[in-house]
Amino acid sequence: MRQSRSFIPTMREVPSDAEIKSHQLLLRAGFIRQNTSGIYSYLPLGKKVLQKIEIIIREEMDAIEAVEVFMPAMQQAELWQATGRWYNYGPELFRLKDRHNREFALGATHEEVITSLVRDEVKSYKKLPLTMYQIQTKFRDEQRPRFGLLRGREFIMKDAYSFHATEESLEEKYQDMMRAYMNIFTRIGLNFRAVIADGGSIGGTGTHEFMALSDIGEDTIAYSDSSSYAANIEMAEVNVAYEKLSEPLKKMEKIETPNQKTIDDVASFLEVDASRIVKTLIFKADDKLIVVLARGDHEINDIKLKNALGATVVEFAHEADVLELLSCRVGSIGPVKLPVDLKVIADHAIASIVNGVCGANEDGFHITNVNPERDFAVDRYEDLRFVQEGDTSPDGKGTIKFAKGIEVGHIFKLLTTYSTAMDATFLDENGKAKPFIMGCYGIGVSRILATVAEQFNDENGLKWPKKLAPYDVHLIAINTKDESQNALAEELYNILKSYRYDVLYDDRPERAGVKFADSDLIGLPVRITVGKKASEGIVEVKFRQTGESTEWQKEELTEKLQ
Ligand code: ATP
Ligand code: MG
Ligand code: MG
Ligand code: MG
Repeated sequence: MRQSRSFIPTMREVPSDAEIKSHQLLLRAGFIRQNTSGIYSYLPLGKKVLQKIEIIIREEMDAIEAVEVFMPAMQQAELWQATGRWYNYGPELFRLKDRHNREFALGATHEEVITSLVRDEVKSYKKLPLTMYQIQTKFRDEQRPRFGLLRGREFIMKDAYSFHATEESLEEKYQDMMRAYMNIFTRIGLNFRAVIADGGSIGGTGTHEFMALSDIGEDTIAYSDSSSYAANIEMAEVNVAYEKLSEPLKKMEKIETPNQKTIDDVASFLEVDASRIVKTLIFKADDKLIVVLARGDHEINDIKLKNALGATVVEFAHEADVLELLSCRVGSIGPVKLPVDLKVIADHAIASIVNGVCGANEDGFHITNVNPERDFAVDRYEDLRFVQEGDTSPDGKGTIKFAKGIEVGHIFKLLTTYSTAMDATFLDENGKAKPFIMGCYGIGVSRILATVAEQFNDENGLKWPKKLAPYDVHLIAINTKDESQNALAEELYNILKSYRYDVLYDDRPERAGVKFADSDLIGLPVRITVGKKASEGIVEVKFRQTGESTEWQKEELTEKLQ
């Protein structure tokens, strides 16, 4: 590509509203432009990098037999009403009305759309497992869009969804996805870690995040310095709280993916619809089954539970009592650190459940409606962290260290939450209707563009890893008015193209200083400069990653370049 014919508006000055390196450089090097808060145009260079990221993702998705689709961004409100997310997704969901006053959401994610699609088209277990993915624009009205592409309001995501007849099948696909994600981020060249994430539950191999390590990351990772333990801070809080709170607690073991039979048994015991049970947590301590029901589910909470499911006693508590206190979460503001008195109450509540002494509903053991700010001061959170650097890691094998991370991917076992809510069932081998068991798997495609820029740069500009660079080679003619320079540059441009190098050819009538500065800013892996020695057929070759430079005869180029 001739640079004179492309659209690469570089800037010398640092844009005042761009706080972080990647945002500044992507703007300055002419990869992106902001339209309005959190909404960007990808210019030719940015678009090329996106395409390279997408190719890697597609190859790895295809390798695990995920098929590509493209679903609508505009989604009728009824879909979101069916799962309840129309009401509880909050202001992040963009909503609009058509001319007939019918309501729509702009897709923040696509569980509803794909579940309805599969519900209507897939009837038999014989068609399962089925995994579909798309690379598409997502809309989220983020409270604080910032850091350029890292947190946009309109952004590009790869989202995949898998449908299964059995939990074993979901587990297999989850492991496939885990490997595919490791491959993707490794091929892209990111410095990253897979961490256990908080799926709003205790224990948890049910969800992992992929964190690119970076000081500007908004997430905190707690990892062990000498074992494989790595979790996001929320999950580490859960793991550590789990160790610290009480003895009975340690005996509690989350049944990771309660099987349908357990769910059905509990549901029929409680005389409620099974769909309500899947939203709960099921624990086991010794031989007791402990069901923690969702907060606010008063109808269920009012049922007095005394008897056994077979040999198993079922007790229950409000989510606020156990789930949120264990995970140190109160309300929806994320991880908070509990004041000691609340911790003691939580301990009692849990002990009482485990020991079956008194119900968690007893006065003094029951915490409802705990609100930070109102019930305790928010500035105390920091003092009350359950996890500190230097603590023994929850696996007991190392010492906890903290690092900052950018969430670039997230995989999640959804189980039957969406299929049950949307009545999406298939017929099993015995002709019985069962809700699909589901998984979902996201990657922030546009976020990766910024993350790579954040990890690969120096004071002069971007330094693209080979596999993502918008072009392989930057070819520069220092003086386009000099005939032999011009002729050699044109010749090399054609030869390199014929050898299938993707070349950005700076043929602009600019000063050498401007060309070099732009070239460093853009950051292609190899720069070939045609200058004074053009008449001898000698060019300068400079490598952006190492800064190394050397002189080659033009004949050597296609041989030595890789
Ligand atoms: P975050 O915690 O950063 O808000 P999330 O957990 O809400 O992200 P998911 O719903 O897990 O995001 O979406 C899958 C992926 O989409 C994320 O791992 C991230 O890489 C990307 N992503 C999410 N929100 C944004 C955004 N506002 N801008 C760019 N990428 C995003
Ligand atoms: Mg988010
Ligand atoms: Mg997140
Ligand atoms: Mg996430």
